[in-house]
Amino acid sequence: FSLPESLEAFWMPFTANRQFKAKPRLMASAQDMHYTTVDGRQVLDGTAGLWCVNAGHCRDKIAHAIAQQAATLDFAPTFQMGHPGPFVLAERLAQMLPGDLNHVFFTNSGSESVDTALKVALAYHRVRGDASRTRLIGRERGYHGVGFGGISVGGIAPNRKFFGSLLPGVDHLPHTHNLEHNAFSKGQPRWGEHLADELERIVTLHDPSTIAALIVEPVAGSTGVLIPPVGYLERLRSLCTKYGILLIFDEVITGFGRLGKAFATDYFGVMPDLVAVAKGITNAAVPMGAVIARNGIYDAFMQGSDQAIELFHGYTYSGHPLACAAAMATLDIYEEEGLFERANGLAPYWQEAVHSLAELSSVIDVRNLGLVAGIELEPLPGKPSVRAYECMVRCFEQGLLIRTTGDIIALSPPLILEKHHIDQMVDLLGSVLKHG
Ligand code: PMP
Repeated sequence: FSLPESLEAFWMPFTANRQFKAKPRLMASAQDMHYTTVDGRQVLDGTAGLWCVNAGHCRDKIAHAIAQQAATLDFAPTFQMGHPGPFVLAERLAQMLPGDLNHVFFTNSGSESVDTALKVALAYHRVRGDASRTRLIGRERGYHGVGFGGISVGGIAPNRKFFGSLLPGVDHLPHTHNLEHNAFSKGQPRWGEHLADELERIVTLHDPSTIAALIVEPVAGSTGVLIPPVGYLERLRSLCTKYGILLIFDEVITGFGRLGKAFATDYFGVMPDLVAVAKGITNAAVPMGAVIARNGIYDAFMQGSDQAIELFHGYTYSGHPLACAAAMATLDIYEEEGLFERANGLAPYWQEAVHSLAELSSVIDVRNLGLVAGIELEPLPGKPSVRAYECMVRCFEQGLLIRTTGDIIALSPPLILEKHHIDQMVDLLGSVLKHG
C-alpha cells in the first residue's frame, strides 16, 4: 500500500478527528506493546490503541477464539434464536461487577452503550408510572461517544453545535479539575471547597423529581484525563439517591483494568445503577459494548407492562458470536495473567515516572490514576493545541504513540507493559518536550 503524494486528491475515509496534517500514520501490524508502521518502523503504544487494547496487541488466544467461532457459527440473531455466547458472557460480566449489577444488554460500541443506558434510564421511570422524569444531567468535558444521546449529555459544546436541539432537558455539572487547586496532585486531587454545594445546586437547578439520570465518566478520559477529587463520586451517588435519580457510570475507558481494578466502581467503591462499557471488553479485536443494569432496573421492566419486551430493542449484532468469543478469550487473559492486579502493582511506579515530567517548564499539570496519565502543557501564545500536536508528531517519529486533546497529552498503555516501557515512554516524551 502506498499513499498518493497529495492527500487532497485522495478520497479520504469519512471519519472526523484525523490527528495528522500531512500524512496519516498507517499501521501494518501490531504485537503486544508495539505497532509496526507501513514503512516498517516499530512504535511503542502509549495509548493501548485508543484506550482499549488492555491485554496488548494481537493476542493469539483472542485471534484463535475469533477464527474458531467464525468457522463454527458466524451469526445467529439474538432476536430470533440466539446462541450460548451472550448467556455465558453476561454471567461472567455479572460476576465481575459488584453488587446486583447483573443484567447485560449487548451493543457494538461505547456510543451505543451510552445511548442504550440513557434510554433504559428514561424508560425505567416511565414503566414505573413516573413519566415526569425526562431530564438528564451530564458534565462539562464529559465524553460519551457520538450518538445523539451521547453528544447531548457530553460536555463538549463544539460536538453539539451542528445538530440542532438534540435531546432536550440536559444540564451539565461543572468539570472536576481546577488547575488552581489541583495542579500536580498525585492520584486523586483534593476536593475543591465550593464543589460539594455546587453539585447539589446544579442537580436541583430544575425540579429534581423531573430528572431521570445523571451520567459521568468516573475518570474523564478523552477530554484530558480529569481525575475526580476524593469524595466527588460518593457525593454524586448520595445526591442521586436523595433525589431518586439513576446514576450511570460510563466506564468505556475505566472498565477492564485501566485503574488497577476491574471497574472504576470497584476502585472508588461507589455503586452506579447502570454501567456502560466497550473498548477493553474484547481487547478491541472485535467491536462490542454492553450496558449492565442493577436487578431492580431489570425487574421494573419485567413487571412494568406488557410492552416491556419492546423496550429491550437490541441491535442486529447485539451479542454477536465473534464478539462474544473475543470477549471470553479477553476476560480469560485478564484473569489468567492477573492484568488488573498488575496494573495496580505498577501504578506507583507509573505515578513517579509521569510526575518526573512536572519539572519541565512547558508542563503545567500532571495527573494520574491506575495506568492512565494526563500531561497538560502550557499552550504556545496564540496557538492553542499546537505544542501538544507537535509533541505527538515528534514522539511518533521517534517511536512512541501518544494521544493529545488540545494541549493535554494522554497516556494509557496496554496493561502488559514492563517498567522499562514506562521508562522509555517518559524518557522519550521528556526529551521531546525539552528539545522539541
Ligand atoms: N464513552 C467514553 C468514556 C469514551 O471514551 C468513548 C470513546 N472514546 C465512548 C463513550 C464512545 O465509544 P465508541 O467510540 O466505541 O462509540
